[in-house]
Amino acid sequence: MYVTRFAPSPTGPLHLGHAYSAAIGFLRARKKAGQFLLRIEDIDQSRSRDHWENQIYDDLSWIGLTWQPNVMRQSERMPEYQKAIRKLGKLGLLYPCSCTRGDIKQALAAPQEGTPKNGPDGLIYPGICRHRSISDARSNDAIRLNIKQAVQYLDKGKILKNLAFSENGPIYDGSYSLADIEFTTQVGDFVIARRDMGTSYHLSVVVDDHASGVTEVVRGADLWEATPIHRLLYALLDMPAPAWHHHDLIRDTDGKRLAKRDDARSIKSFRDAGDTPEQVLAHVGLDGVL
Ligand code: GLU
Repeated sequence: MYVTRFAPSPTGPLHLGHAYSAAIGFLRARKKAGQFLLRIEDIDQSRSRDHWENQIYDDLSWIGLTWQPNVMRQSERMPEYQKAIRKLGKLGLLYPCSCTRGDIKQALAAPQEGTPKNGPDGLIYPGICRHRSISDARSNDAIRLNIKQAVQYLDKGKILKNLAFSENGPIYDGSYSLADIEFTTQVGDFVIARRDMGTSYHLSVVVDDHASGVTEVVRGADLWEATPIHRLLYALLDMPAPAWHHHDLIRDTDGKRLAKRDDARSIKSFRDAGDTPEQVLAHVGLDGVL
């Protein structure tokens, strides 16, 4: 059965881009007589708020969307993330890291010529803490994946050269091979668990989509670049990967991507101004779809 999900973070109001994303997922599930799930991505407890979570339910119902009753909340799933971290740790692929952004920036100030500084997960980590052992992790350390060892581990099983993900979207349609991605130089040692958080966006999303039986991840094209990381994690955790559908992004009149801080484009502001749900969906090109 087809299963997809909408996975907002309760850190601000949903805007037109979220309405579009949620509606696309809902419609794809409806077309395939599948299930549409809702997941609250609240691992960042310093920014998540109950009132934003409540407004997510409120806005989505107002638009006319329905979802399966079992809403997953990431803040309740720490034991599952810990299990996955232990699995990666047992493979010898993790190390603790105490670097601040400032430390990383400083170390990258004089990069070797031709070395890209930014990967899909931000600054490419220069490996300052790579010599440390996971057994020496201190409570406020982050945990990173040693990407070189991860690649070697998959290479040994001849997995990496065949690694691909299935994309059914407007940017790409077909099987997208990861064989040409230089993970060590283009992605780097990304964070598996953020300091004081016990997990990261990448780890949680993979663990949760797997646990929920998601068969197709529907999300915005801004997350296209994170997909090789997610596909790699599925392989390391020995989990079957879903397919992906990255949809186009809704932009404001200046062509800029909408962000949570753009309150003016929030669903709530359109509701308050007297728009109907149909009008809100029409703003994102989805006239008469529900
Ligand atoms: N929580 C993410 C966001 O609000 C979406 C994650 C995903 O769909 O993979 O952008």
